Amino acid sequence: LGASRTFWELIERRAALTPDRPVLLQEDRSLTFGELRDRAERVAAGLYGMGVRAGSVVAWQLPTRLETALLSFALTRLGAVQTPVIPFYRDREVRFALRESGASFFAVPGVWRGFDHTAMAERVAGELADPPRVFEAYDVLPDGDPALLPPPPEPASGEEVRWIYWTSGTTSDPKGVLHTDRSLIAGGSCLAHALKLLPDDVGSMAFPYAHVAGPDYTVMLLLYGFPAVMFEQFALPDALAEYRRHGVTVAGGSTAFYAMFLAEQRKKPGTPLIPSLRLLAGGGAPKPPEVYHAVVREMGVQLTHGYGMTEVPMITMGAPDDTTENLALTEGRPPEGMEIRITDEHGKPLPYGSEGEVRLRGEAVCRGYLDAGASTAAFDAEGFLITGDLGRLRESGHLTLTGRLKDIIIRKGENISAKEIEDLLHTHPAVADAAVIGLPDAERGERVCAVVEQPPGAPPLTLAGLSAHLREAGLSVHKVPEQLEVLDALPRNETLRKVLKYRLRERFGG
Ligand code: ATP
Ligand code: MG
Repeated sequence: LGASRTFWELIERRAALTPDRPVLLQEDRSLTFGELRDRAERVAAGLYGMGVRAGSVVAWQLPTRLETALLSFALTRLGAVQTPVIPFYRDREVRFALRESGASFFAVPGVWRGFDHTAMAERVAGELADPPRVFEAYDVLPDGDPALLPPPPEPASGEEVRWIYWTSGTTSDPKGVLHTDRSLIAGGSCLAHALKLLPDDVGSMAFPYAHVAGPDYTVMLLLYGFPAVMFEQFALPDALAEYRRHGVTVAGGSTAFYAMFLAEQRKKPGTPLIPSLRLLAGGGAPKPPEVYHAVVREMGVQLTHGYGMTEVPMITMGAPDDTTENLALTEGRPPEGMEIRITDEHGKPLPYGSEGEVRLRGEAVCRGYLDAGASTAAFDAEGFLITGDLGRLRESGHLTLTGRLKDIIIRKGENISAKEIEDLLHTHPAVADAAVIGLPDAERGERVCAVVEQPPGAPPLTLAGLSAHLREAGLSVHKVPEQLEVLDALPRNETLRKVLKYRLRERFGG
């Protein structure tokens, strides 16, 4: 199956092998592999009737539901270019995605969670020179007779750009990332291998299907033939009933999800939250070692955490049977076919153990950005993607991320990693989450500011108390924050609940 060139080839092969096994589960509804294939073909015929062709750009802003997966597969059947937009995005982001991608169709959910998406879509579309045709695709999807469909476009090497994903916009405006069926299939098969999953596993997606992890995760299901639970609205403790009902064994999510699980677990220590669960597998944001230990100790499940980005959904992943030390302190190892280089700022490779910039080459790497200038700047002469992330590689292949180039604070000429301080802040009992930022400072160039979210009922923090804790934990004096801000909630994006540091800089940096 892994040799499939396109998504459609992959679903055809899987549906022929195990048509009656379930692939997607949601509340009391489900789809089998056979139904996914057959129904997606009907939707494709409906879309064809509306004028969608191979190469048409179709934007969709839809929640995580069975219907959304059907629409997405239908688009792969037609060879259309799809650009998923996170459901929580509003006018500004939607306008950006529609304009940059030049979409000619835009699928929306109608009124969803009290918000009128159709009205927003029409408003935004109306402002564009070449407006897309807006249509609703929530309960009712386009439908047609598959007999009227032309065969899947040929030749299809799997190298045609078929997906445009948007980066989180942590450092600047989101960038449109170009993927092919092959790049996403490569990422998904790596994920499956790394996690050593079994055909009787039951997975779950606690992230929006509109995130690049959506197709990647789905590839894994198609390769292994097991199902996953989808959540249209993910909220604990309600979601726990879903996990239990479907007997989830492997729960996917990111760091913020582990924290949610832990908080829930702490209400009933010692009683398994989800009896069937054996593995929490996630990634996409820093995971302090403290969080690893707490999950394993208090929840009694294994945790593997990986490194990924919109450009390369799967870069490294912890193997569930690796050592505690490797799982706590590293992001795991790259799969076969992923080359990782740690370099200096000129791209010169550095020896094992040195900290430097992470560069990547391999089939799972995106084919570029929508913006041609950004594409040229992003790849070096040897074709490695320049990630802007900082890390260290061990000879064993384990990668530890140490921060982001744009997240380095330069105080009196000394480079300070925000991540190092954040990891230590997490060892303080009155800190639920923390973000460290550099703020402009006339005297020092930049000063170190810690922004902290406290757990409910925790005693108030003071700068002096926190400083003492950090110094005791071994942080050198020149890195100790000189400013403390306490917030009820850190500003986060809606996709992986990643902290938006630029917002904090705007707010506290004047
Ligand atoms: P933008 O590129 O628009 O500024 P972004 O880089 O945050 O936004 P994403 O593609 O969603 O957008 O995120 C990828 C980034 O997330 C990585 O480059 C890395 O900095 C961070 N990241 C991913 N996994 C991990 C991890 N395991 N530990 C630490 N950071 C991680
Ligand atoms: Mg990025």
